[in-house]
Amino acid sequence: MAGGIDDILGTCGYRPAARTIVLYLHKLLISMRCNTLPVMRSPAELTEAFRRQNLKVTPQRQLLFRLLHANAAHPSAEVLYAQASELMPGISLRTIYQTLNDLAAMGELQQVSVGSGPTRFDPNTDVHHHAVCDQCGEVADVYVTNLAALEVEGLQGFRPRSTRLVFSGTCQRCAAVSPSATARSSNVPINKEQSP
Ligand SMILES: [Zn+2]
Ligand SMILES: [Zn+2]
Repeated sequence: MAGGIDDILGTCGYRPAARTIVLYLHKLLISMRCNTLPVMRSPAELTEAFRRQNLKVTPQRQLLFRLLHANAAHPSAEVLYAQASELMPGISLRTIYQTLNDLAAMGELQQVSVGSGPTRFDPNTDVHHHAVCDQCGEVADVYVTNLAALEVEGLQGFRPRSTRLVFSGTCQRCAAVSPSATARSSNVPINKEQSP
């Protein structure tokens, strides 16, 4: 079909090796919006929101707000801890986790599971999906524009609450360094590894 998945993913330079997805993506229309990100509230707005909810506001927490603002890298707590420690030595991992949990509870962050690695945190709270590079761990946002076209087998009697698709493979940058990995990945069939 015109505008197939590989074509569409290719517009962002992404070549999936295995599609860890629900099902049958030949007929699924997907578009990637590279470099677009609904920006979470500003650090100042988050400070206000925390105060309104009687949540603690400290310089450490405000540093986290700044590190996460417009952050499209889907960082793990450990990555944020390393970045925060450089700027504010002595900040604790516990503070990082508490702040991330508070932000997630307020709907300012999504927790993203992308396979075997640690949970990633995503200030993009739009409904979206992810493409994950097996080699460098990069996580990119992917948008599905016609989820209703997804043809699913085995969901009889099940009422899906949500669907999250994860494409694993090789990103454009890694493919440029190691073209053979991309060549190997291009013939991998679709997997049915993840339920909604
Ligand atoms: Zn990569
Ligand atoms: Zn995301």
